[in-house]
Amino acid sequence: MALPSYAIPDSNNSPHHPSSPGGALRQPDLLRVSAAEPCPICARPDWCGFSADGYLAVCMREETGAAHPARDGGGWVHYLQAGPHAASRPVAETVGWPAPVPLAPITKLDPTYRWLLSHLGLSDAHRAHLIERRGLPAAALEELLARGLAPASWSVPADELDGRHQLTFTQASVPKLRGIPGFFMHGGHPVSLTLPAGLLVPLPDRLGRIQGLVFRADAPPPADPKRRYLLFSTGRKPGGSSCGSPVAVWRPEPAARDGQAVITEGSLKALVTSYLWPGGGCALGVQGVAAWKPALTVLAELRAAAGGGAGFQVALAYDADASTNAAVASAEASLAAALQREGYAVQRAAWSQHTPGGAYTPAKGIDDALVDGRPVLVRPYARARAWAPPARVPPKAVPFSAAATTRARA
Ligand SMILES: [Zn+2]
Repeated sequence: MALPSYAIPDSNNSPHHPSSPGGALRQPDLLRVSAAEPCPICARPDWCGFSADGYLAVCMREETGAAHPARDGGGWVHYLQAGPHAASRPVAETVGWPAPVPLAPITKLDPTYRWLLSHLGLSDAHRAHLIERRGLPAAALEELLARGLAPASWSVPADELDGRHQLTFTQASVPKLRGIPGFFMHGGHPVSLTLPAGLLVPLPDRLGRIQGLVFRADAPPPADPKRRYLLFSTGRKPGGSSCGSPVAVWRPEPAARDGQAVITEGSLKALVTSYLWPGGGCALGVQGVAAWKPALTVLAELRAAAGGGAGFQVALAYDADASTNAAVASAEASLAAALQREGYAVQRAAWSQHTPGGAYTPAKGIDDALVDGRPVLVRPYARARAWAPPARVPPKAVPFSAAATTRARA
């Protein structure tokens, strides 16, 4: 089935960017493996690569049987076919990941991603998911839609064979998509990542400009059930760009008002938290528990906007498995130490593992706790660290009254 190709409006063109497509690529270009096209060597859906012509694979895990190590980026080169190329060292020695195109400036990223989100729109099913399952207030979603900051449905015309979706663009879009993570060059045309059905969630910066997108699959890939979220990034695809680890900043206004921000993992969780935090709160979503360093820059800006005084509070709200998962606990402790060095009043949010009705039902994320109307306790980090939340917390002990909102989950 032929897929339509899209042209991007001219208003998104940027004078900052030359129109040379593709960038300097080394041959052969490597493509990332995926659930649909797993590594031919280790059969895993991530990390490894292969050449589009099926000539070789670069496996990041399996050295046995490899011809030689890959040059940069690590891994081992495995030749998949015997043939004239296989003995050709000059070709083999140039194998490496294509050099990423430099990231476009925010003045180009923001309008391009806004174009994409408005082009995709939000399906009724995803609207219901956000409101009924995630607990995002309907009025909040309307506000986000009006501001062009709402998540959008990745449900463009699908390849009927595997139900995965890719946008293909016209040649005229080459300069417009250059340096925009999530897109790359394939067969002489700009294309998007190939993704199953899901949601694209914006990663807004402190000024509400969209600096990147994260993808949430409706159904996690069977080969890798934990991999439900994926950054919309193409740093290792030909002509693609990496978005890095941008911190999503949702509702920065309350930070100036309250002198407080919450840090959690993931943009969607931060989005929901910013609206359900009692009174509304500024919530930062980091791209993985260990990827908190960019949050320090954002917090410095938020603190300056709040008057720059001491006592700016940063509440850590990593998932509840911080108490049992060593990697999460270690990342949280490193973040807390860095924040203390920067002079923040570091706090930790903890929530009951019981519903307000008294049933023991663990809530992993802060958003789950807030949407259930569970008491959330925010306490100084050093004391909260060793504290396990009791089954029932008297409402008056909650500094940020969580008593107001009991929302039913669908
Ligand atoms: Zn592999």
